[in-house]
Amino acid sequence: MSATALFGNYARSELAFDHGEGVWLVTADGRRFLDCGSGVAVNALGHSHPHLVKALQEQAGKLWHVSNLHQSPNGERLARRLCEATFAEKVLFVNSGAEAMEAAIKCARRYHYDNGQPERFHIVTFEGAFHGRTIATIAAGGQAKYMEGFGPKAPGFDQVPVGDIDALKAAIGPQTAAIAIEPIQGEGGIREIPAEFLRAVRKLCDENGLLLIYDEIQTGVGRTGRLFAHQWTGVEPDLMAIAKGIGGGFPMGACLATAETAAALAPGTHGTTFGGNPLAMAVGNAVLDVVLSDGFLEDVRRKGLSFKQKLAGFVDSHAAVLGEVRGNGLMLGLKCVVPVGDFVAAARDAGLLTVPAGENVVRIMPPLTMSEDEIAIAMERLEVAALAIETNLVEGAAG
Ligand SMILES: *Cc1c(COP(=O)(O)O)cnc(C)c1O
Repeated sequence: MSATALFGNYARSELAFDHGEGVWLVTADGRRFLDCGSGVAVNALGHSHPHLVKALQEQAGKLWHVSNLHQSPNGERLARRLCEATFAEKVLFVNSGAEAMEAAIKCARRYHYDNGQPERFHIVTFEGAFHGRTIATIAAGGQAKYMEGFGPKAPGFDQVPVGDIDALKAAIGPQTAAIAIEPIQGEGGIREIPAEFLRAVRKLCDENGLLLIYDEIQTGVGRTGRLFAHQWTGVEPDLMAIAKGIGGGFPMGACLATAETAAALAPGTHGTTFGGNPLAMAVGNAVLDVVLSDGFLEDVRRKGLSFKQKLAGFVDSHAAVLGEVRGNGLMLGLKCVVPVGDFVAAARDAGLLTVPAGENVVRIMPPLTMSEDEIAIAMERLEVAALAIETNLVEGAAG
């Protein structure tokens, strides 16, 4: 593919899709792939969901953009609905996950600045974290491979191992503004953070006057069978970044906050040209219409359990390929024994799309609308993939 006019920063497959229907993606020559990645946990309601298509088409015929110089009735409505369903009292709309985290980081720093403590600008984050690809969020994520060659690491980010409360205490000082954490690390390899650890983090925040920031960009909007993953634990943050699922495939993100925290971003302190534009607000409201409808999240929980049980049996019968199942709801991971890239490729050859993550884990994050029948098809295709790898292993050993 040397003829591409696109930057070479992505390792793309050879597949090009023409259209999508529910959990299925279809190539121009009619090959059908079961999408168990939802992009990367983005298409929460699958492809071409009629309610989302209608909302976007109706809005497209009315109004695309008016800037943030004027009122936003649909933004007001979406914000109110997010607040009613969460800890939050205020919402700022942005265009991506990284921007949502940037807003949370700026809000936390400015909060302490306004309280007469400008020296409090450090954010404590966790090893294995992923918070985005901007200059600040690569520093927050702390992974050397994402920072290499991009100049000095942005100051004010301190990283500690997940679950190590003593290291966390040691990292907190008069410079600390906030602690930021994903309730389940997504890119890190579907690593669930125990509820007791989140409780301990909240307590440390309260004792030290720090803000707690959740990154629910991947875990949010029903992915784990609750609207937000932290709602399994009852431990609430002061700030929360969301994106991915809230747009169902339309690019958008948001920073949610308590009123006291949000007050730090007074007029003129922060902004975005496109954030909260009418197209995004129409789609966001349409996503919530479905995700908050009666029984929807309960259904995600039921299907998530069913899928996880089937995957556990699958892993047991393919010990040379796979090690364990992780995750909650429809945010599942399989730790691979073989290189994860081999498993992703074998699954793709079998007509199933997955997403690799850290710790040699393959992510299974299908649209939340996936049916039990489609879960059964996914299991058949995963079986084909595992058998293909096992055959190769045997032939490799023999040859
Ligand atoms: C995807 C992701 C981001 C970054 O979102 P972008 O929209 O790619 O900027 C940040 N944090 C987490 C947990 C994510 O999964």
